[in-house]
Amino acid sequence: MSEQQFLDFGSSKVKECILALKEIDFELAYLAILTCEGIKPLSRWEKPLDKAGLELLQQIGLLTRQIKRTVKTGAEVIETIFSRTPGYTQLYEQRFGNTPIDKSAQTQRFEGFLFGYPPCCVEQYIRQPYAPNNLPTEDQKILFHWSCKDCKITPTLLPAYKTIYNRLNNYLRQ
Ligand SMILES: [Zn+2]
Repeated sequence: MSEQQFLDFGSSKVKECILALKEIDFELAYLAILTCEGIKPLSRWEKPLDKAGLELLQQIGLLTRQIKRTVKTGAEVIETIFSRTPGYTQLYEQRFGNTPIDKSAQTQRFEGFLFGYPPCCVEQYIRQPYAPNNLPTEDQKILFHWSCKDCKITPTLLPAYKTIYNRLNNYLRQ
């Protein structure tokens, strides 16, 4: 990660929020920090999240929205999205609000753009999901996109992901 950080990790309020998010789910806290730091323009949380969880995200500076979607059976699901930037939450809501969940190539490209995935990896994933890449397993597992083979962008993103992942892992109540 560059020297410029948006979250003040030294602040006790920020620390409390991150620890509380981590207690809900490690991955939620990880996504929240990646999004706060601008590594991901927008993130989506597909598991239920209550008002207290939403408030934690808001307290560290994220804008949140809950979006109604439907699945094939017609059942309604609620997705939580969060971003530092109102434009991204608006784009997501305009495009996907009250729509059925779909995995079309067009949707994957748009989601990849919003979620900060390298376009080369998105295209590869559309052609063939989980195609073998040269990434060490421990690096691949901390990413939210599947790296394409010999990716030029993923290696430039990895240091920021690693820094945040390790920091969150070592972030404990004293
Ligand atoms: Zn790539």
